[in-house]
Amino acid sequence: MIDLFGALIVGSKSQQFAAGLKLAKSVFGGGDIAVIGSGEHFSFAGASTAMGHSSNAYDIDDGHNITRAHPGTSFVGAILAAAYDKNVSRNEFFTALLVAYETTVRMGAALMDYYNYAHSSGTFGAVGVAAGVGRLFGFNKERLNNALSVAEFNAPLVPGIRSVEYPSMNKDGVPFGVMTGVLAILDTACGFTGNKHMLEADEEYQKAIMADDFNATVEKLQNNGDEQFCGIGVSTCCMVSNGDIFPCPGWQSMVCGNLNIDSLENIWKNSPQLNYLRSIRRKDIKECMSCSDKAFCSPCLARFANESPTGNPMEVAKHYCEVAKINKKIVEEWRQRHTIKRDN
Ligand code: SF4
Ligand code: SF4
Repeated sequence: MIDLFGALIVGSKSQQFAAGLKLAKSVFGGGDIAVIGSGEHFSFAGASTAMGHSSNAYDIDDGHNITRAHPGTSFVGAILAAAYDKNVSRNEFFTALLVAYETTVRMGAALMDYYNYAHSSGTFGAVGVAAGVGRLFGFNKERLNNALSVAEFNAPLVPGIRSVEYPSMNKDGVPFGVMTGVLAILDTACGFTGNKHMLEADEEYQKAIMADDFNATVEKLQNNGDEQFCGIGVSTCCMVSNGDIFPCPGWQSMVCGNLNIDSLENIWKNSPQLNYLRSIRRKDIKECMSCSDKAFCSPCLARFANESPTGNPMEVAKHYCEVAKINKKIVEEWRQRHTIKRDN
């Protein structure tokens, strides 16, 4: 606590905090929550934002070995603001801090494992904010997991090493991590929904990936050559404000019709482009059909067309084959590391 409060107090002398105060005032408005180092009072979101700018300003707060980052700095201000807002007991405050610490370091370790590099504190701190504040706000398990998912998906995803290479107020991503965590809580309360944060999803993913028949199972799903290549023209098409209909997002070069001059039903049923695309079968792209990396790839007609000099959706873009090879290598290395751990 001395460490975290020390960081907040010293950080309140920084330019980063001055910027955070201005931002809190202009975006999040007033309230009755005190902010360390300022005589002003803010809403919960404003106070969290302001203190999120001071807590990591001088990098003097606690460090964590496994995540190679600063867990406490990323949630202390928001939890303080939430505790003040909800007028909770000292015990509840400390419990929320503990919950935030546990969640933050676990999420940090999970992210590092998943992406294979160390992230900035704000990346997983956003999830710690959501966990600690959600608890103080009385969120049930379902809402809490939702807020964690929203925070994890929307948090800054910055390699920690860039903080070192390019020192600035960006460093460690803490202020934006705090704001993401706070907004994840407020948006959850407004009905915004996410789905499975990494600590939930990881278990299923690990179980699936460790199965001996993982590759064979995925390949089997792609081995039926008579199946449609994908959902294009079967379950999906897109429209934009000028009425143009495209087969898929990112494929604006292929206009299949326009709603100002034709009905959606007629375009959907009779557009030559959509009829052509929905007639493509897996076996039509032979290279993908016989590919040994297909379990690690999501071949895509829109991306093939966009990469092809002639706009041909059947022309395999080699770049994606390289990506599939890298995916395969990462998964195989991960599996090997965890098989060794499991066998020990
Ligand atoms: S790696 Fe290349 S050839 Fe194999 S499935 Fe993917 S896009 Fe097709
Ligand atoms: S695989 Fe590509 S082309 Fe097919 S539906 Fe998905 S995004 Fe669209």
